[in-house]
Parts: sequence; structure tokens; C-alpha cells
Amino acid sequence: MSKSKRGKALWALPSRGRGTCPVCGSTRIKLLYTKTIGSGQALKVCKRCFNAPQEKIDAAGMLGVK
Ligand SMILES: [Zn+2]
Repeated sequence: MSKSKRGKALWALPSRGRGTCPVCGSTRIKLLYTKTIGSGQALKVCKRCFNAPQEKIDAAGMLGVK
């Protein structure tokens, strides 16, 4: 298996896998981790927020849905 979160694989992604993390608000960070929020929606988060408590993920998800 090739690394999906490093190198050339990123260039095929929209914005090359980067964006603003909805949880911590970091800009131009790699959003390579998918978390599922309360409503069953998928939310892309950064490496740091992948291990964040579910409440933080849900809170960010609510804001995004609005
Ligand atoms: Zn984050």
C-alpha cells in the first residue's frame, strides 16, 4: 500500500488535501482525517483534531451545517 497522506497522492486531492480545519481553525493545514459527527455527516479534520474529543468535532460540525 502506498502512503495516502504523504507525497504525490495529495496532489490528486482537491486543494491538494489542504484547507482550514473546522475544529481548530488552522488554515492551510492538511485535512486528511475523516470524523463522523452526530448527524452522521463526514467531517474532514486535521491530524491534531483527529484525536480531539467527540464534543469538539460535533460542535464544529454544527457550525459547518448552518
Ligand atoms: Zn484541526
